[in-house]
Parts: sequence; structure tokens; C-alpha cells
Amino acid sequence: MVKTNHNAYADLVHQFDLLVDEPLKKYTAFKVGGPADFLALPRDQHALKQLLKAASDLDMAVTIFGGGTNLLVTDKGIRGLVVVMQHLKSEIHITDAGPGRKTIYAETGERLSKVCRFAIRHSLTGLEFAAGIPGTIGGAIIMNAGIPSGEMSDIVQSIDVLNPQTQTVKTIEKKDLAFSYRHLNLPGIIVAARLNLMEAAAEEIETTFKQNLNQKKSTQPIAAASAGCFFKNPGQGMSAGELIERSGLKGLKMNDAMVSPIHANYIVNTCHATCEDILLLKQKIQETVFKKYQINLETEVRIKGE
Ligand SMILES: Cc1cc2nc3c(=O)[nH]c(=O)nc-3n(C[C@H](O)[C@H](O)[C@H](O)COP(=O)(O)OP(=O)(O)OC[C@H]3O[C@@H](n4cnc5c(N)ncnc54)[C@H](O)[C@@H]3O)c2cc1C
Repeated sequence: MVKTNHNAYADLVHQFDLLVDEPLKKYTAFKVGGPADFLALPRDQHALKQLLKAASDLDMAVTIFGGGTNLLVTDKGIRGLVVVMQHLKSEIHITDAGPGRKTIYAETGERLSKVCRFAIRHSLTGLEFAAGIPGTIGGAIIMNAGIPSGEMSDIVQSIDVLNPQTQTVKTIEKKDLAFSYRHLNLPGIIVAARLNLMEAAAEEIETTFKQNLNQKKSTQPIAAASAGCFFKNPGQGMSAGELIERSGLKGLKMNDAMVSPIHANYIVNTCHATCEDILLLKQKIQETVFKKYQINLETEVRIKGE
């Protein structure tokens, strides 16, 4: 019997405990975004594979969220299925990888901050740059998250990638991954990662970690609703923040969207900003900086939805 789409969707909702018309502002650090038609929070790889198979059979668009800390979702929201990976995690494992080296294995939904704390506890250096960067391991790898002194590509050893069409998992080694500045081009879903870290004195690791964290806390509005730095730094010369600040835009508001007075490359949601407010502010920033410096600022934040 051929089912109507309506029945098929109802089955999907029931079978996978999906949330329907779920507001995505609940899943983004910006606290902005309309509804997802369907939203899933799978707890293990098996459930994720089954869900993706069912979505693929229904030809349903799938959008992946990690911690939602680098995302701006449109006010109309996202059609199809949003899969939030935050609960896809298990115990973090540690294995020997030669003299003075260890490999940390974590599933994609593990918080980067938890993996950092794990590394410090085990006297492993390499992740200090990640102090204060929110989100999941999977999201951090896709974004090649970092600061000038380090980024995820420095420590990724390999990742396990799920093909959403075939639901098969393949391990890809670092040498076969095309990392670039705040970007990894990957046609697939990260389900787990191995990170390559070195043994060192715990005290030194902790000191560097705390210095990075304090530096972040004192220069960035980390407690505000935002998606971190909004624009990528241009290849050379002034940073995006400097360009925006020198264009006189700090504190500029579009309703409840504001260029942070603390760090000009942060757009913050001061209360009830909409995606439209943020996009208008983004446009204003880009036009003003272009007029003054002839530099096109590209967004680092990923914009999703219709
Ligand atoms: C206060 C604040 C400070 C920040 N500071 C920094 C900083 O110092 N440096 C920095 O680089 N970034 C920073 N960010 C941005 C953000 O935290 C990072 O980019 C983070 O690594 C994103 O992780 P996430 O899990 O939240 O990913 P999300 O925002 O959920 O997703 C980011 C992208 O990755 C994709 N994705 C997520 N998980 C997977 C997966 N498992 N498989 C395939 N695709 C996936 C999503 O579809 C999306 O395209 C900051 C953000 C905030 C709010």
C-alpha cells in the first residue's frame, strides 16, 4: 500500500520521537530562529542511522546542528528534519599513540569544554587554544574552530564520517581532510573523532588554558547571546573586529541586534532580535567597511533556513 506523505510523516514522528514545529531559537546560542518542521535528538549512532534512512526514504531534507553556537537560523525556520547531535556522546576514551603521545576518542556530541577538561586532567597538551569555545567536538571540527595560536586541524588525527544516503561509517585520516580557515569541506556527518595530544606537565597546560580563557573573557562578550565572531578575518592586515571598530560601528543597533561595544566582530542579541534584524545589521556593517576600506567581510557564522 502506498502511504500518503502525511501518514508517513506521522509514522516518522512516532517512531523517532520527533518534535514537530520546534522553535530553533532553543537550539542556537544566538537565541534566534523560527521552527524546524521536525527535530530529532538521537542518543546513539544506531538511532541516527535509522533516522537518516527513514528521512532518505521520504526524500526529506536534513540539517545537522551541533551545539548551535555558530549558527544563525532564519525567522521562517528550517524545512524538513533538523538533527541535533548534542546527545550523541559516550565515555571519552584515551589510548597510547607512541612515546609521549595519546589519542583521545570522543563522539561528536561531546562538548569541546568537557574534552578540554579531560585533556588537562590527563596531562595532555594541544587543546589549550579551545579554552572558552562553546559547542560540540563535531561542530568544532567542521568549523576548524580556534584562535590565532591553534585550531582543530592541529590536533585532529581522524574522524568517523557517516554517509547520510548509505548510512555507512568511514574513518577518514587527517591527511585526507581539506581543512582551511574556519572550514572543513565534508560531504557527510561526523559521528566521532580522534584527537592527537602530547603528554606535558599538567600545571603548564592549565596555566596556558586559564590565560586563554581569561583573555577571551576580558575581550569578548561571551555571556551575551551571539554566535561568536560574526565575520571571518580577512587574509592579511586588520582583523574583522578592527575594521568594524574603526568604521565607527561599535554599539550600532538594529532593533535588538547590536554590534557589541566590547568586541566589534560580535553581533549580540540584546533581547528579542530577529534573524532579519541581524541580517540588516550584517549588511550595514559590510557596506560601511567596504566603503571605507574596500574589503568584503565574509560571514563566519553559518546561516540556515528559508
Ligand atoms: C561566545 C562564543 C565564543 C566563540 N568563540 C570562538 C572562538 O574563539 N573560535 C572559534 O573558532 N569559534 C568560536 N565560536 C563559534 C563556535 O563556538 C564554534 O564554531 C564551534 O566550534 C561550533 O560548534 P557547534 O557544535 O556549536 O556547531 P554548530 O554551530 O551547531 O554547527 C556549525 C556547523 O557545523 C555543522 N555541524 C555541526 N555538527 C556536525 C557534525 N557532527 N557533522 C557534520 N556537520 C556538523 C553544522 O551543520 C554547521 O554548518 C564562539 C561562539 C560563541 C557563541
